[in-house]
Amino acid sequence: MFDIRCSNCNKLLGRAEAQGQVEIKCPRCKKLTKETLNIITEYTNLDKENERIRQEIEKEMYYVTEDNIELEKAISEGRQAEKKLQENREQLKVLMTTYLGVEA
Ligand SMILES: [Zn+2]
Repeated sequence: MFDIRCSNCNKLLGRAEAQGQVEIKCPRCKKLTKETLNIITEYTNLDKENERIRQEIEKEMYYVTEDNIELEKAISEGRQAEKKLQENREQLKVLMTTYLGVEA
């Protein structure tokens, strides 16, 4: 792998391997750097790669946040169900006592 640096400001623009030519415009100073290394065909534009990584992370954060909202909702519903269950048990006790108190 070869580092490709801006011929003007020396910013690291990408990395290359294999054969061919590469031209990269520096995002910092806007100067076009041409490299004709024998062993270049493919290069990774670091800025594009970083942008892609950031977008993936953003997507992941979005999904986790959405998931958390669902989980909080489920927990809240669970608490309500637990409360209702407790009330139902109390009500059953009262009904049972009343039932047993009624003479047949
Ligand atoms: Zn530059």
